[in-house]
Order: sequence, then C-alpha cells, then structure tokens
Amino acid sequence: MIFPTKPHVVLLASPGLGHLIPMIGLATRLTKHHGFHVTIFVVTMEPGPNKHNLLPNNQSYNTSQDLYNLVVLPYVDSSAQMGLTDKIMTRLSIMMRGYIPTLRAELGSMQHNPTLLVVDLFGTEFLSLANEFNMIKYVYIPSNAWFLAETICVPLLDKQVKHEGPLNISGCKRVEYDDILDPVFDPGNRDYDVYVSIALDIGTADGVLVNTWEQLEPKTLFSLKNNNILREIFNKPVYPVGPLVRPVRPECLGGELLEWLDEQPKDSVLYVSFGSGGTLSSQQTIELAWGLEMSQQRFIWVLRPPIEHDVAGALFHAMDGQDKNITQYLPPGFMTRTRNSGKVIPMWAPQTEILAHSSVGGFLSHCGWNSTLESLVNGVPIIAWPLYAEQNMNAALVEEDLGVAIRPKVLPTKGVVGREEIMEMINKIIEEDDDGVKMRARVKEVQENAIKAYTIEGSTWKSFGQVANNCENRLKEQRAKAT
Ligand code: UDP
Repeated sequence: MIFPTKPHVVLLASPGLGHLIPMIGLATRLTKHHGFHVTIFVVTMEPGPNKHNLLPNNQSYNTSQDLYNLVVLPYVDSSAQMGLTDKIMTRLSIMMRGYIPTLRAELGSMQHNPTLLVVDLFGTEFLSLANEFNMIKYVYIPSNAWFLAETICVPLLDKQVKHEGPLNISGCKRVEYDDILDPVFDPGNRDYDVYVSIALDIGTADGVLVNTWEQLEPKTLFSLKNNNILREIFNKPVYPVGPLVRPVRPECLGGELLEWLDEQPKDSVLYVSFGSGGTLSSQQTIELAWGLEMSQQRFIWVLRPPIEHDVAGALFHAMDGQDKNITQYLPPGFMTRTRNSGKVIPMWAPQTEILAHSSVGGFLSHCGWNSTLESLVNGVPIIAWPLYAEQNMNAALVEEDLGVAIRPKVLPTKGVVGREEIMEMINKIIEEDDDGVKMRARVKEVQENAIKAYTIEGSTWKSFGQVANNCENRLKEQRAKAT
C-alpha cells in the first residue's frame, strides 16, 4: 500500500440517489478544495451493470471532469434476511450489512492507504471497519442538525410507551406530533430497533458531518455543542459542512426546455417534483393537475405514474419504461389546455439546473433535504409537500423557523390536498401577496447567508479546515506507524 501525500477519503453511499448525491457533494469539495483523494463506494439496490452510476436519462455522475473515483460494489442479495413486513429502514440496514465483507476487502486491497471513512445514516455498522484500518470515522448526515438532534435522542424513548405528544429535545425546537418520524410511533416494529441502533452507532464515530450551516440552525448547533443534557448522550464534534449541493451542469439543461424557460418572466415558473422516490395516488395526481391549471401560473411538473398507498413508490417499484403515455394519468385535455403555460416532464428532470434558472420562482417540493437546499441556495420559496422519512421535519423547519415556505393544511400523507388549496398556495408564492413577498425576501437572505458559510469566516469553511487537519494528522500517524 502506498501512502499518498494527501489523505485518501473513503465515502460509502447507501442505496438511492438521495444518498449518493450528498456524497458526491462532499467528494467534490474534498477533492477540489483540499486536494484529497476520494473514493466513493456505492451500494446497489438491484443487480445490473452500473445502475447507480447513471442517473435517469443516462446522465452520468462519473465523468472525466470528476476528480474522485466512483466504485459500484457488486450486488449482494440479502433478500433472504428480509421479512415481508419489514419497512424501509430495516430493509436498507439489512441490505447494507451484506456489504461489510466486500468493503473490508476493498479497504484491504487499496493501492492508496485510506485515512478517513465517511458513512451515511444506513452505513453506521461499517464504522467498526475503520478501526481495523486505523482510519478516522465520521457519519455524514445529509440532512439538518435538528434531525441529528432528534435521532440521537431516540434511544432515550421508552419502548414500552407509545408516543402520543410532541418530542422535546433539550435545547432544540420540539418536534410536533405530526412531524415525528414513523418508526418512533411503532416500537414493536423492527424499524424502531434499527433507528435506535443507528442512533447508538453515531455515538461511536469520531464526529458527525451535517449538511447545514451555522446561520441556518444556530440554536440547534449551539445546543449540540453546549447543552449539558444533549452532551450527556452525545459528545462528539458536529461539523456543519453545508450547503453541499450538486453543482449545476449547464449542459444538462438544453434544448426546448431551456428555450422555454428563457422566454418566461423572472420568478414566474413553479417547479413541481417529489425527489427520487416520491409518488402520489391517482386522486392526488388529478387534484394537483387541477390546482396547477386553475392557478393559471406557469409550471414544470416532473410526473411519475401514480402509486396507491406508497408515498415513496419510486424507491422500490421498477418504473423503467413507464415514461411512455405518462399523460394518461392527467385529467382529459390537461395537456392541451396548459400547453403554453406548462411543461410536463416524465420521471426525472435536471433539477439543480432548473432551480438555478432565473424564471423559476417557486418549488412545490417533497422537502427531501437535497431538494430543500437546492431551493434555498437559489433563493426559491417552497410549497412544502412532505411524503416520507424526515421530510415533515424539514417542512416544519423551512416553514416555521426560516419563513420561506407554506404547507398545506392537511398533511399530504394523511389525506388528499384539494385543488382549491393547491391553487391558493401556488398563487401565494408566484403572485406574491404580502406573505409571498415576505417569503421571497426571507429566502434571498437565506441564500446570502448560505454563500457566507463558505467564506473564510463561515462555519463551513471552518468545518472543512478542521476535518482536513484531522485527516492530515492521522495520515502522518499512519505513515509513522508503517515505517
Ligand atoms: N432530482 C433530480 N431530478 C428529479 C428528481 C430529483 O435531479 O427529477 C435530484 C434532486 O435535485 C436532489 C435529489 O434528486 O438532488 C433528491 O434528493 P432529496 O434529498 O431531495 O430527496 P430524496 O430523493 O432523497 O427523497
């Protein structure tokens, strides 16, 4: 094994683009700004050649401009260990566990000595591998600090008691009943145990990287560092490293869509998308179509086939080839009536590029944290439409703490949001009544302080400096030990 002059960082991404994208953000920063070597290992959800190296529409992440190495680990089938009733957290954690021997072998046979291992929420069982190779080990939470605070408090909940009120986290904003993560409500389910063990594993890391920044969550970050009760259960350094978002690649937004966007007035287009996994029911799809049409605003809608009773349908249902005839799910005549004001894009769109366009003035989003950050860094206010995972918390954060979003009265997971309400929300954001004006002004402030996080005084700059120092020091130690 060779000791390179700069540390070699190993990142492990659990299945799903929502997990790979933040790792790519981290890799880009570490290579471009610190000259580190980076290898990203990607776990696949299904067999097949390089499935996760490719985005839909064959956009590749691993182009020659990229400085990091992206390795898709050969598929390991863990389906025999999964029960029929197992939910998403359990399935992901079982799937990941199957890859521990593979990653151990990869680390052992690396040409360049690895110095730092970074895993995401579903990779915490890999942390002990870092000890075998004398590596530093961090968990990367590609979400916000409030979610981290909630997670580390979960082991304190009593499994015997069914949760019935808000969740109080010492020194932090409380999590309202409706926004609490699903596993917490169901202590009898395996997902609960998985969530608790992830929380306990996080405590074994040398530190936690979080995709946030000081000015976005000052109170929570302060509490994670200083609150005595929180420090008793979790006493590791927290490094705010955000906003890490996928860089805009102008070549991804071309042709007719770009021409159309260029022709629209500034801030006039609503972009509608539910991330890499979100799906709506047939009825909700129809209501959304009517809401868009009745608002008479311009829109770009990334449309997926409806799936009943599964708001994360695109994560586990094969959707290959379903982009044909996608408009069959829309009200008759919708495409004709909205042909001048809207664009329907099947399955997947170049989101970061669309949000960066000056004509886009609102985002109807499921509030996955990547999507949320992509909206904030582009100064785009949000209609928050959370569907799964910690998205309810993200929606609460952008609406209540940041004042840059509105939420429907009914939770989209608990009922159907009607066309009238959808129309009103769209008009509020795009037409800008008093609240809309305030939201847009506020989101521009957030956009500015996101940029400041990267300046020499900013929290992200400082965090990366500390992480880089820790890695340089560990590399020296490793080298000394080897000679
Ligand atoms: N995304 C995209 N085009 C789409 C849908 C999603 O490029 O049509 C990207 C989006 O820009 C974001 C990621 O996929 O970077 C979704 O991550 P997020 O955390 O928002 O949600 P998740 O997919 O994890 O639920």
